[in-house]
Amino acid sequence: MVARVTLEIALRKEFDYAIPPEFADRIEVGSRVKVPFGPREVLGVVTALVEQSTHTNLRFIANVIGRQSQVTPRILALARWIADYYCCPVEIALKSVLPDAVRKESSGWRERLYVRVLPRTGEVPKLTKRQADVWHVMEEWRELPLQELLRLTGATGETVRRLEDRGLVTIAPQISERDPYANETILASQPLALNPEQARALEKVVAAMDSLARKGGKGEGAKGRSDPPLPGSLSPFPPGPPAVFLLHGVTGSGKTEVYLQAIAQAIAQGKGAIVLVPEISLTPQTVERFKARFNSGQFQTIVAVLHSHLSAGERHDEWQKIRQGRARIVIGARSAIFAPVEPLGLLVVDEEHEHSYKQEESPRYQARDVAVVRGQMEGAVVLLGSATPSMESFYNVRRGKYALLEMTSRVDDQKMPIVRVVDLRAENRKARGVQIFSEKLKEAITQRLERKEQSILFLNRRGWSASLQCPSCGYVAECPNCSVSLTFHRAAQKLLCHICGHTAPAPRACPKCANPAIRYAGLGTERVEDTLIKLFPQARVKRMDSDTLKRKEDYRRILGDFRSGKIDILVGTQMIAKGLHFPNVTLVGIVHADLSLHIPDFRAGERTFQLLTQVAGRAGRGEGEVIVQAFTPFHPAIQYARRHDYAGFYEQEIEYREQLKYPPVARIALLVVKGRNEEKVAFWAEHLRRELEKLIADAASSKTESGETKGRENESGELDLGGLEFPSTLPPVSAPSSPIRDLVIAGPAAAPLARAETFYRYQIMLRTRQMTTLSRHLAKLSESIQLPDDVTLTIDIDPVNLA
Ligand code: ADP
Ligand code: ZN
Repeated sequence: MVARVTLEIALRKEFDYAIPPEFADRIEVGSRVKVPFGPREVLGVVTALVEQSTHTNLRFIANVIGRQSQVTPRILALARWIADYYCCPVEIALKSVLPDAVRKESSGWRERLYVRVLPRTGEVPKLTKRQADVWHVMEEWRELPLQELLRLTGATGETVRRLEDRGLVTIAPQISERDPYANETILASQPLALNPEQARALEKVVAAMDSLARKGGKGEGAKGRSDPPLPGSLSPFPPGPPAVFLLHGVTGSGKTEVYLQAIAQAIAQGKGAIVLVPEISLTPQTVERFKARFNSGQFQTIVAVLHSHLSAGERHDEWQKIRQGRARIVIGARSAIFAPVEPLGLLVVDEEHEHSYKQEESPRYQARDVAVVRGQMEGAVVLLGSATPSMESFYNVRRGKYALLEMTSRVDDQKMPIVRVVDLRAENRKARGVQIFSEKLKEAITQRLERKEQSILFLNRRGWSASLQCPSCGYVAECPNCSVSLTFHRAAQKLLCHICGHTAPAPRACPKCANPAIRYAGLGTERVEDTLIKLFPQARVKRMDSDTLKRKEDYRRILGDFRSGKIDILVGTQMIAKGLHFPNVTLVGIVHADLSLHIPDFRAGERTFQLLTQVAGRAGRGEGEVIVQAFTPFHPAIQYARRHDYAGFYEQEIEYREQLKYPPVARIALLVVKGRNEEKVAFWAEHLRRELEKLIADAASSKTESGETKGRENESGELDLGGLEFPSTLPPVSAPSSPIRDLVIAGPAAAPLARAETFYRYQIMLRTRQMTTLSRHLAKLSESIQLPDDVTLTIDIDPVNLA
C-alpha cells in the first residue's frame, strides 16, 4: 500500500510515500504523519491510500501522529470542498480543520505523576515517622497527584519513593484532563414546557431528523473508514423535505430552548450536535445553559466547548473528548464547525446573520455555509436561527431551499418595544447647533433615572471624534499608512488609526497653519460618555468598547455590574448589541443610526437594519422604548426597523439586489491586489483582469459539453444545495472548464480603503451565479500567474468585507 500525503507546506500537490510494515495498521485516510521531504521532515495528512504509485523509489513515512486518525474521512471531504469552493490549497484548508493544539507532533495531553496505594497482603512494614505521615494520608485518599501529596504532607519526593520501594504505593504518570469550566458548579435544568410557536418549530425540526434517520441516515455507519464520502462518491441532495431550517424568531422568543430540545432529540437518536454561536456571545451564561441541560440529569452527555479564549491545552483536551466520542455536543465559535462529531444529527447556527462567521484569512470560509454543506454531506439537519436573518438565508427560504420557522412573540408575552425616530437635522436647526442628545432622548433618560430603571446608549464608533479638521486651511489629520482620517481619543490625548493602530499625539493647533481653532468633527463613544456625565451628574455611567476592555474579564465584570444595578447608563459600540438580556433596561438610545449607512458597501442598509433591530431587542420588560436619532430618518432600513417589519425590509432590499445583481441574487468573488508601489499594483490588477478574461474565453471556445463538465449549474444559473453548489458533481481539476455566461467584471479600481498599513489596494469584483466554475478558473489563474514578490493577490469568495 502507498499513502498519498498532503504536506503542510503549501504546495498544491500530493506526494506518495511507502508505508513501513510497523505502521501498516495505524495508517488510514486522515492520519497525520511525518515524512521526509528533501533534507528535512515535514508534517502532513494522508488523503488517500492507493495500491500503487506511478513513482518509483518511494521514501518511507517516518512517523504516525496520534493513535486515531485526526482528520476523519468526513472532515477530509469537507476540507476538500472548502479548498475547491473558497479557492485555496488543500493544505491550507486542512490546517484550519484541526486546532493548532491538536496538530502538534507530541502528545498534547498533560500527564501528571499520580501516587496510588497498591493492594497489600500482610503487615505494613516498619516506617520512619515521615514515611508514616505520608502513608496515613495515602491510606485515606488511595490516589493523589504527587504534587498534591507533597503539598498536603510537606514531605519530599524522596520519602514517597521510599514507600514505592517498599511496595506500598506506585508512582506513575497519568493523563489529567483540563476542564476550562472545572470550577463552576452548574445546576441541572429541565426542558421547559414550550409555547405553541416553539412547539411547532421543534416539531418540524424533529420530523426532519426522524425522516433522515429513517432513510438509514448517512449519519450512521459514519464510524470507521468504511464509507469515505469523498466528493464524487456522494449522492448529492437527499430527496424529501429540506433539511435546512431558518428559525426567524424575535429576540426573547425562546430560540435557545428550541435548540436545546432539538439537540436532546439528536442525542436520543444516538447522534451528536454542533452549535455555533458568534465568539462574542459565547459567554459563560450561554455555555452554562447547554451544560445545565446535558451534563447532568437524564443525559450525562459531555458538552465540549471550543473557542479562542481556551488555552492550547484546554482546546486539545476538549477536541480529543469529541474525537473519542465522549463529548457528543459541541458548542463553539466559527471553527467548531470542523469538530469531528460522529455521527452528526444536528447543526445549529445561532445568530446566523453575523459576519463573524466569515473567516477573514485563508481559507476564507463562511462557517454558516459550511454548516449547510456539512449537513448535506452527513445527512444532518441544519438549523439557522436569527431575529434578523441574512438576505442570503431568507432568499433561500423564498426559493424553497430552506424551510421557514417563525416565532413572532416573546416568551414572556411582552410587547415589542416602541421605537421612535428623531430627526437630527430638525433637532439641530431648532437648537442652532449640533446636538448629541435630542430633547426627546434627554427626557427619556431623565425619566429612567427617576424610576431607577436602566438605559443603554449605542454608537457604532469608539473614541472622541471621527476626525480632526482645521476650519481655516482645511487640513485633515490622516493616517500616514492608510487612506483614512485619524480618530481623536481624548482620554489618551492621541490621534489613532482604527485600521492599523498608528498613533500620533493630538495637536493643540493645526500642524499646517498653526490655527488653534482645530475642530473635532463627528462623534465617538468617548464623547457620548463625557457629555452624559455633564448632563446627568447624578447618573452612574459606564462605557464599554474595545478601549475600555483591556482584559478579558472586563467584559464580564462590566456586564455583571450592569446586571446587578450598579450602573444606570451603559454606553457602548456593537459589543452591547449582542444577545444580552437585562430585564431592568427600559430605554435604548441609538445616538447616530445612520453612521453605518454611509459606507461603500451594498450591505450597508441590511447591516443597519440588523443593528437597529438587535439593539432595540435589548429594551426589556414593560414599557420598553427605543429612541433612534438619525440624519436620514426616512431611510428604509430605519423605517422598517422602527416597525419591526423584517419581511417589508427584505422585499424592498431584494429588489435593489436584483437590479444590481448583488448577492444573494448572484455571488461575488473579490480579488484584491496589494503592494507598496501603487503603479505596480494597478498594472498587475489590470493584467489579472486580462488573463482572467482570456481563461474564460478559452473555456467558452473549447467547451466540450460532456455530462462531466456541466456540473450542477443548470441553464438559469440556479444553484442547488441551499444556494451552495455541491462539490460532488464538479468536473475534476484537469477537465476543461465550463464557460461562465453571466459573469460581470467590475474593476480593477482602487479599493474603498485604498491604502491600509502602507499597502495600496486595488480590487476586481466578479459577480456570477456559477461560483464553483468561477472558483476553478480563479484557482487556475492564481497558479499560473507569476506575480512579483512585492505584489500579492488575495481571492475572497462570498466576501462580507468589501472595503
Ligand atoms: P432568544 O434566543 O430567542 O432571544 P432565549 O432562548 O434566550 O430567547 O429565551 C429568552 C428567555 O425565555 C430565557 O430566559 C428562557 O429561559 C426563557 N424561555 C424560553 N422558552 C421558554 C418557555 N417555553 N417557557 C418559559 N420560559 C422560556
Ligand atoms: Zn492607519
